Amino acid sequence: MATNRTFTMLKPDSVEKGNVGAILEKISASGFRIVAMKMTQMTKTDAEEFYAVHNERPFFGELVQYMTRGPIVAAILEKDNAVEDFRTLIGATNPADAAEGTIRKLYAESMGENAVHGSDSDENAEIEGAFHFSGREMF
Ligand code: UDP
Ligand code: MG
Repeated sequence: MATNRTFTMLKPDSVEKGNVGAILEKISASGFRIVAMKMTQMTKTDAEEFYAVHNERPFFGELVQYMTRGPIVAAILEKDNAVEDFRTLIGATNPADAAEGTIRKLYAESMGENAVHGSDSDENAEIEGAFHFSGREMF
């Protein structure tokens, strides 16, 4: 069911810097349809659960601090091959390694503060979308 959908967050640095409009424009221009979207702020518990796969990593505490320090924009996006195409659009985790023209190359500061999230599999897109949205918030 989720093969044509992915999940994204425009992270707190994107909101703080006023980059939400530009990033959404790029997402739309790249052929993604916005299925669900909201501005919200994750609690510590939310972030710890969302990033649980990383909870043994040395950067986990900083990651939770970063992701909870201000509002994010969460969205579900639809396009053929959504997960893979969106990962290509955002670029490498470390913006220093991200390809020219990618969202992280254009808008990210560092490996830690890297502007956007993109799901890494269809299964995680489904789980992450459901973490933030109920069925009747999806259009
Ligand atoms: N992260 C970090 N240091 C690292 C690796 C990751 O601060 O060495 C943060 C970064 O914000 C990244 C998030 O943890 O986006 C999740 O890491 P992942 O490896 O899943 O990267 P992504 O899938 O976001 O590219
Ligand atoms: Mg990841």
